[in-house]
Amino acid sequence: MVLSRALTFAGNPLDRANLKRLDVAWLTAAQSAEHSRILPLSHGKPLMRETAGQALQLCWLSPTAFKEATGQIVFLGVEADLAHFACDVGPDATGFAAHGNFVDPLAALQGLPDAEGAIAAQARGILLWHERHRFCSNCGAASESADGGWKRFCGACKTEHFPRTDPVAIMLVVHGDEVLLGRKNIFPPGMYTALAGFMEPGETIEEAVAREVLEEAGVTVGDVRYLASQPWPYPASLMIGCIAEATSREITVDTTELDDARWFTRSDCRLAVSGAEGPLKIPPRYAIAHHLIRHWVNEG
Ligand SMILES: [Zn+2]
Repeated sequence: MVLSRALTFAGNPLDRANLKRLDVAWLTAAQSAEHSRILPLSHGKPLMRETAGQALQLCWLSPTAFKEATGQIVFLGVEADLAHFACDVGPDATGFAAHGNFVDPLAALQGLPDAEGAIAAQARGILLWHERHRFCSNCGAASESADGGWKRFCGACKTEHFPRTDPVAIMLVVHGDEVLLGRKNIFPPGMYTALAGFMEPGETIEEAVAREVLEEAGVTVGDVRYLASQPWPYPASLMIGCIAEATSREITVDTTELDDARWFTRSDCRLAVSGAEGPLKIPPRYAIAHHLIRHWVNEG
């Protein structure tokens, strides 16, 4: 199994068709073409409808449903020759109640097919960026959407602004047959997970991993291996999953960040991955930490 294919929000089936973003005539025609599909979102929550057996699906509508809507529209991509868009319909979304409900993608994971979860993440991420970046960060003037929604442009100071993605290093720190996991006090009792932290400017992934592990647990690391990454649109993170080899074992917990950190054995983790009761609980499958732990268990 390729690890990244198992990850929630990965595997978006749309062809992002980047060159079409620059073709204003094509975009304008596609946006009103009868067969084009538009996904309404309200505050980053896509419209979904229930199907048989409590399953959910994204509720794509034709452009005719958006005659009144004036919110931000973004070109998501093409699938089966159909153009797909996302539209922010704003907080007053009562006009769409007949079609379904606006649901947070994380709350819908149980019922939503994986591919649709990935599209939901793309639509949510880009529309939340527009919602929070309406003004130019260089001069403060209002900026305008461009390139099918994949850029904002400030006419006052001629600055281009691109959607942001915030990289987060998330790492399993291993030492022989043991792994270092930490917990925050908001976690359910017994749950531990991989350490993680935002990367900083001028830092490599390897350096961010080493810095975070030293800061949060007082442990030093040597080799760092990249495993897989996961888009996490809350609001704009990219989780970069790594395995790091510890070069020290003594733990000093940074109590401003963590409630506790400790070493667990591979058999503790194997039990946790299987879902059986044991000394350790790990995050659910939608979290990359679950898959990092599962991958390491299977390596041993
Ligand atoms: Zn400006």
